[in-house]
Amino acid sequence: MNNSIYNFNLPANEPVLQYLQGSPERVALEQELNRQSSTVEEIPLIIGGERIFTGSIGKVVMPHKHGHVIARYHKAGEREIKMAVEAAKTAHDSWNSQHWTTRASIMLKIAELITVKYRAKLNAATMLGQSKNIYQSEIDAICETADFLRFNVYFASEIYKTQPLSSFNQLNRMEYRALEGVVFAVSPFNFTAIASNLNMSPVMMGNTTVWKPATTSLLSNYYLMEIFMEAGVPAGVVNFIPGSGAQIGSILTSSPDLAGIHFTGSNSTFNSLWKSVANNLENYKSYPRLVGETGGKDFIFVLPGADTDEVAAGAFSGAFEYQGQKCSAASRMYIPESLWESIRDKMTEFSKVAKMGAPTDPMNFVNAVIDESAFNDIVSFIDYAKGSEKAEIIFGGTYDKSEGYFISPTMIKTSDPHFKTMEEEIFGPVITAYVYKDSDVEETLDMCNNTSPYGLTGAVFGKDRMEIVKACSKLQYAAGNFYINDKPTGAVVGKQPFGGSRGSGTNDKAGGEFNLIRWVSPRTVKETFIPPKDILYGYMK
Ligand code: NAD
Repeated sequence: MNNSIYNFNLPANEPVLQYLQGSPERVALEQELNRQSSTVEEIPLIIGGERIFTGSIGKVVMPHKHGHVIARYHKAGEREIKMAVEAAKTAHDSWNSQHWTTRASIMLKIAELITVKYRAKLNAATMLGQSKNIYQSEIDAICETADFLRFNVYFASEIYKTQPLSSFNQLNRMEYRALEGVVFAVSPFNFTAIASNLNMSPVMMGNTTVWKPATTSLLSNYYLMEIFMEAGVPAGVVNFIPGSGAQIGSILTSSPDLAGIHFTGSNSTFNSLWKSVANNLENYKSYPRLVGETGGKDFIFVLPGADTDEVAAGAFSGAFEYQGQKCSAASRMYIPESLWESIRDKMTEFSKVAKMGAPTDPMNFVNAVIDESAFNDIVSFIDYAKGSEKAEIIFGGTYDKSEGYFISPTMIKTSDPHFKTMEEEIFGPVITAYVYKDSDVEETLDMCNNTSPYGLTGAVFGKDRMEIVKACSKLQYAAGNFYINDKPTGAVVGKQPFGGSRGSGTNDKAGGEFNLIRWVSPRTVKETFIPPKDILYGYMK
């Protein structure tokens, strides 16, 4: 019997290991990289705890060496998708009725397994499968994944202890029930941590999920699923079904038991899921909760007088780390005339030292973009700029997909603040700069605010405090994560709760109580000790 009233303390963030040459973590990682590079993993579906091999096969390759297959995966068909919904429904009541500290223990155990026993394995899979260098993988697959799990436990304990007042003759309480039905978790390729959290935050609150992972991140995502099971996540609580997004999405959104969608990915996919839900509204048992974090067109606004060394370093890292494939990556800059040449020259210098190549060589700062379709898309933006009189390539602009999907970090300068690459999400290593007159700060801030449909991240660099305050205020809705004198990427769980509004999503701030609260449907229970036996009020007698 568990009758504890338990408070989990605010956890510390998982330390980022250094991976210096010869360190134990580096040796273990290199061994695991070798092992995974010489194996082809067979990835089944996992439904109700059972591994299912459908025989309809797809392959997963290394983006930096696309001739190298690292996994074969089995695709879900209509039958398996429906089985996954049934398995999640079957597991729901037992999981929801567990004492919440049981669920918390499992979350904390997953975090321990990831940071200790499987650190090298999950890092290697993320590096090889998603083309991340050691540092990018470590901060994502290990640190952020563990942080989400540990902080969610703390925030869940804060939610559960939030209780209403009781007074004489009554006792009131809130029961934080899981949603009634199944949560559909749809994850993007770019963060292993997000794939974990899209499942684990609803699961922490007593829900069960059907998980559609992105095909290109299947190796790390499959290892996550195995870790969830080893930690004690019961059969059917998470059901892992690789396959066609369109087919899985259509079956899930037409299920009467859909209780919520927890999504991260592109704006267009989220819009299509939302429309599908709207079209099925009459069929649902409850209104599904729709939580989605989508794209961005993240900006750096440089004020006159800013420190150009700081701007150049922030803009280069913010735009090109992980090849610009972070939803938060800087992709447009507003630079005053007086600082343009200095910032241009410093960023150009960085472009000469930032090496590009496979993530297995630790000297490479930039690796490959995720797949051929992303490569072609990004290149089309670069070619468009090359062919336009309104744009000039400052550095980069080269690409090669013969062995891996490599695109060099590219800076475009445009004379048109509404140039295509200033407005549309590219999701690759491309940043566009618009140079404004120093006297036009106000108009340019308005332009920055009104240029793109997104509102995810943005940064302002400057020294004059009053100017910074003005920028903060004018750009109030331009970013859900706003940075002052820092790059707009690298949000840390518990420190910079993450998410944006406008076209960037529902802004439910992953990794905190705002997100967790979306996965519960509270029931208020009032008990009256001595109920009245008359209907008349005192003054009526
Ligand atoms: P994507 O939209 O192409 O795919 C996301 C997931 O949706 C994948 O698993 C995909 O298979 C699935 N999918 C595709 N069509 C579907 C459908 N009709 N029904 C159901 N599922 C479907 O996105 P991506 O390329 O994997 O990720 C890149 C995008 O994600 C970028 O736009 C980026 O900005 C965004 N992103 C946002 C955040 C954030 O927190 N705001 C974080 C990471 C990535």
